[in-house]
Amino acid sequence: MKEFTKETIWQVRNSTLGVYVHFPYCLKKCDYCDFFSVGIGSGPANDESTLFNAYQKEVLERISHFPKLRERTVDTVFLGGGTPSKASSTNWQNLIQFLRSEFSFASDTEISIEINPEDLSPKLLEEYASIGINRVNVGVQTLNPKGLEFLGRHYDKNKYDSLVSTLTHSPIKRVGIDLMYGIPGLNASDFYQDLDIFLGANLPHLSLYSLTLEKGTQYSRDVSEKKKTEPEEYTQSDILITLPELMKKFGYRWYEVSNYAKPGFESKHNLKYWTYEPYLGIGPGAHGMIEGFRYGNPRNADLYQKKLPTDKYEPITPSSELSLTLFRLFSPFRYLEFIETHLEKKSQSKYIQTIESWEKRGLCELDDGVFQWKKEALLLLDDLIFEIAD
Ligand code: SF4
Repeated sequence: MKEFTKETIWQVRNSTLGVYVHFPYCLKKCDYCDFFSVGIGSGPANDESTLFNAYQKEVLERISHFPKLRERTVDTVFLGGGTPSKASSTNWQNLIQFLRSEFSFASDTEISIEINPEDLSPKLLEEYASIGINRVNVGVQTLNPKGLEFLGRHYDKNKYDSLVSTLTHSPIKRVGIDLMYGIPGLNASDFYQDLDIFLGANLPHLSLYSLTLEKGTQYSRDVSEKKKTEPEEYTQSDILITLPELMKKFGYRWYEVSNYAKPGFESKHNLKYWTYEPYLGIGPGAHGMIEGFRYGNPRNADLYQKKLPTDKYEPITPSSELSLTLFRLFSPFRYLEFIETHLEKKSQSKYIQTIESWEKRGLCELDDGVFQWKKEALLLLDDLIFEIAD
């Protein structure tokens, strides 16, 4: 256990609940984005107040369908999107108060919001701190104007120039950013130049993603019409395998394929997805996993507000789903506990045999019921996960 003791070891936690709220509007739809999001320009959404009423209605309907939800303690709330920083802080404050009135909250509940650079300001961070938000994540993607243009993202020079200083002086200390690599037209050193700036700022959480080509996006249409090129795969693999050692030197823990955090600054909410913990998803396009069932809301804000299909639930199938989430973790976890809690006997033995074969192939370490990937597994991860899934 020598290697593991310095790190948090994730384990099964089944009595808590995360809440995810999807705000679907953005200033502009980015070309690569396949989230349910609608670009509406710089003003507020016409239906903002009715949408926030619908959020409350959905929470009440989900609770009436699953009264046991009230027995759980909410320990994470994640305000995502879209661009939730586009909605008024008062609406978020009222929604958080409403959630507090419906559920019991843990004393250290993590309440996160995603902010887009155009909305970021010291005043906004003060407002968020005052309404109880205690974690912020900014979708930077790149500081390079050429890269932002390729991605079809809105670029406001003043906002990008002041971004690092605003974040380092934030009254909220749990701060993270998303950075992307493999953007055509930028090379690895352009990415490391961005990364250096945020490492220099000592931000506690960095999500470092590769650009992907998703079907149905403007980017994928542009690639089919030869107007744009595909993500730079070679650069992406090179950066992917370089990052773990590099980030370790700066004191970050590599806890998920694309996520690095200073100890104790991991995203508690996102960890729920990877450790298969229940979460209530609220809002158009949101998904949830509660009381053994999954559901998905319509990717249409009008439809969502008119009629919530809160009676459509699919039973979860842990034998295929557990592998897709748990084995994205690169920090150690109690694999036997997860397997015994979530899987039937037959699937348990298949999981255990496959895991033991990975150990023999030098891809992971096992010790006293604890699993941890070795970095040799990184480029093979998708295939390995496929091996274990039912
Ligand atoms: S701001 Fe984020 S959610 Fe909105 S379109 Fe761009 S990538 Fe998608």
